[in-house]
Amino acid sequence: MGKFFAYIASLVCIALVGAGGILGYFLLEGEPPKLQVTPIPKIIGRKYTFTVKATDERSGLRSISATLSQGDKTLKLGSKTYRQKEWWRGSAVSEDKISWTIRPIELGLAQGKALLQICARDSSWRNGLKGNEQVWKTDLQIDITPPRISLESTVHNIRSGGAGLVSYRVNKPITKTGVWINKHFFPGYPKPGGKEGMYVAMVAIPFNVTRPKQIFIEAVDQAGNVAKAQFPYRILPKVLRVRKINISDRFLEQKMPEFMARYPELKGPLLKVFLKINTELRHRDNTEIRNYCKKSVPKILWHGRFERLPRSAFEAGFGDERHYFYKGREIDREFHMGIDLASVAHAPIPAGNTGLVVFAGYLGIYGNTVILDHGLGLFSMYSHMSEIRVSVGDKVERGDTIGITGMTGLAGGDHLHCGMLVSGVFVDPMEWWDQKWIQDHILANLSAQ
Ligand SMILES: [Zn+2]
Repeated sequence: MGKFFAYIASLVCIALVGAGGILGYFLLEGEPPKLQVTPIPKIIGRKYTFTVKATDERSGLRSISATLSQGDKTLKLGSKTYRQKEWWRGSAVSEDKISWTIRPIELGLAQGKALLQICARDSSWRNGLKGNEQVWKTDLQIDITPPRISLESTVHNIRSGGAGLVSYRVNKPITKTGVWINKHFFPGYPKPGGKEGMYVAMVAIPFNVTRPKQIFIEAVDQAGNVAKAQFPYRILPKVLRVRKINISDRFLEQKMPEFMARYPELKGPLLKVFLKINTELRHRDNTEIRNYCKKSVPKILWHGRFERLPRSAFEAGFGDERHYFYKGREIDREFHMGIDLASVAHAPIPAGNTGLVVFAGYLGIYGNTVILDHGLGLFSMYSHMSEIRVSVGDKVERGDTIGITGMTGLAGGDHLHCGMLVSGVFVDPMEWWDQKWIQDHILANLSAQ
């Protein structure tokens, strides 16, 4: 009998210890929930969204709430309570992520300081059954005033397919600024040698645009407030030439194997291969080039006019509309995004100006190509080389030999294709070979204040 009671007693003991363990581990735990806020609001504008991650491993979450206070005003941003499911474990939710949006104007808050507080409780029985509390707080700045943009440069006469420079001032720190021309964004850079808040943006009008749908300066401050400002401009239309190009069987037999060896997907009759190269590959290559020319060093590396291939003849112009014919029949139309210059075969190619090599290699229809970054969004490219003499990352001086002319890529004879780009938009290199044009359109606006 005694044995039996001892057995029962030990069972009760085990049960009590078990229940005690559960109570101790889950319901009497003293560890408050953990809070993680991302991104931490510091300066907020008209709308700011942040996410709170709340975790409580033991008793689980009971409630979470967020408030904003300014002066003697405290406003509730939002709250959430969790169902207490299991008596022995409290809440079934041990982790949650909540996004809250602050709209200061709708909340009636004024510009200036405010305090954000997030309070979370767990399901523990501690603190008179109220649970352990965690409070997370941060001071933040409400700023709903957009930056002010003041224009400094006054004359902006830009040719279709040409470049220009806009100089302006922004009255507060910004996170993004530049000029929008249709869908193209031209980043603004701190003005070289200028005071704080002064910016310059090198811009370009695409060769086929005469009346842009939109053209304005934009500045975004740290709170996300956006300012837009117009500037006076005049767009001078470009006279586009049409050139007829005959594609011969000899050209196809000579050039297509080079591409078919590189791009195994090119198959079939040579004319079909040519058309695929001239359209699809050309557009793919142009996109690749534009991408190399989007990020630039924030200073001017070039000085003086750009040098062109010495003792060379002008073969084809920028923006030429090329009509391709095969046996008297028109087979394709494309635009030429650079200038072709021909000198003697295997002529040394000078760097147009001081810059950094951002690309050196084979680039589809352009063959062996070098692209130089001259700073503030200005790039130059050199194509169809037989030999490349520089590598990515090299700094070259104006006039340094960067390669040797040739006929790699879609070139029928030894020549140099020169291209220039402003933040990914092809422009006419001719402007950059002209000291007076540079003085009137770039340097004059660069020194405007
Ligand atoms: Zn060309």
